[in-house]
Amino acid sequence: MTDLTSLTIAEARVGLANKSFTSLELTDAHLQAIEGARALNAFVLSTPDQARAMARAADARIAKGEGGPLGGIPLGIKDLFATRNVRTTACSKNLGNFVPPYESTVSSQLWRDGAVMLGKLNNDEFAMGSSNETSCFGPVVNPWRRQGGESAHLVPGGSSGGSASAVAALLCMGATATDTGGSIRQPAAFTATVGMKPTYGRCSRWGIVAFASSLDQAGPIARSVRDAAILMRSMAGHDPRDTTSVNRPVPDYEASIGKSVKGMKIGIPKEYRLDGMSTEIEKLWRDGANWLKVAGAELVEVSLPHTKYALPAYYIVAPAEASSNLARYDGVRYGLRVPGRSISEMYENTRAEGFGAEVRRRVMIGTYVLSAGYYDAYYLRAQKVRTLIKKDFEDCFATGVTAILTPATPSSAFGIGEKGGDPIEMYLNDIFTVTVNMAGLPGIAVPAGKDRQALPLGLQLIGRPFDEETLFTLGEVIEQAAGRFTPERWW
Ligand code: GLN
Repeated sequence: MTDLTSLTIAEARVGLANKSFTSLELTDAHLQAIEGARALNAFVLSTPDQARAMARAADARIAKGEGGPLGGIPLGIKDLFATRNVRTTACSKNLGNFVPPYESTVSSQLWRDGAVMLGKLNNDEFAMGSSNETSCFGPVVNPWRRQGGESAHLVPGGSSGGSASAVAALLCMGATATDTGGSIRQPAAFTATVGMKPTYGRCSRWGIVAFASSLDQAGPIARSVRDAAILMRSMAGHDPRDTTSVNRPVPDYEASIGKSVKGMKIGIPKEYRLDGMSTEIEKLWRDGANWLKVAGAELVEVSLPHTKYALPAYYIVAPAEASSNLARYDGVRYGLRVPGRSISEMYENTRAEGFGAEVRRRVMIGTYVLSAGYYDAYYLRAQKVRTLIKKDFEDCFATGVTAILTPATPSSAFGIGEKGGDPIEMYLNDIFTVTVNMAGLPGIAVPAGKDRQALPLGLQLIGRPFDEETLFTLGEVIEQAAGRFTPERWW
């Protein structure tokens, strides 16, 4: 029997249905893989007893022919999703040992459809970061290493670094993730996994620790485009408990895989061709465009003129919303409490000790840009820029463009500690991804090649609102052409 952990969800589904193996065997294989991969620090909590109980229950349902769309499939959950009776920390000391009495809508839909929970995955503290180095549990290690003897540990990207690392290292078959400015797509690109950031409102945010509520979206990280489509179907859907969740039927995303791309118009935005862009990224982008062309799509140059303002505007809007969302961590309601002589001092002590440096920086920037004297100059202006960015995309799609192709990241994975000094350098990682959140659009990152250090690189496809299906169709064309990439095991 092949190693059960190397199967895709689509393959495991067949094996489970054929009784080639049970969900309990599949789950045990993954629990063992998790134990053997502690060096990656991808899981902050594994839940073996719960996993086995869920697997046994799944096996019983499968035996009755009632397995469900994800029957018996073991998954990892980003620690930003509340899981009932299972510690949920957002990887912040401030949440401490918070054990939610409720389950996030997205994860509850996965369990409804038969999936098995292996445990909780590491992430940047409150999902703020691009390298998973801001977690209170320490950095996650990318299973990919540079070729040629250099064994320095690389970041898996962030904030969903644990999700990406665990999926790439075969510790779970798929994972939940969230994306506020690139946190699904950037780590997917750094680990040769597939990451889908759905249209804003497609997945419920209920029960997900909030970072910037107008930008946050949940989505899957998986090892193939098909697997991402399978997971999306369970994760998406209307939820009356999230007023921004949209009431539209959830399509069978998997059915869009293999559809023809003939006649589709793919936009190549000229503003994404950055000065000093590496020749490898340029080549990757050209390759992707050629593969889509060979498959029958038409390539057109398009312009998204406000692109250069997206990153500065994002780093005003996101911290502003974060500062307001994080006001609730006051030492009264959740997790950590550090006493003081007065209630204000208790708030201050708790927040000073509970939040890491990056989170404190965001809270301060956010509070500043929302303050009376600066609100118009910064926050309001950033919101206006946001409207212009959204309009750029609308104008582009109005010309008949079906989807837009860009690189997912400006580089491959970098070393742990390498970008520690300058926050701006870290923020530049999101240059190709934040526009999509600002406009509320769907975006997928698909592995598309490797750089000269043999590290994976990804391409991004951006779609019209609620047209995730086309992104799955196009993403699979790239996947077919580029092939799939698996890191060599060293951990
Ligand atoms: N890297 C971006 C940030 O730090 C995006 C994070 C995210 O998408 N959650 O804000």
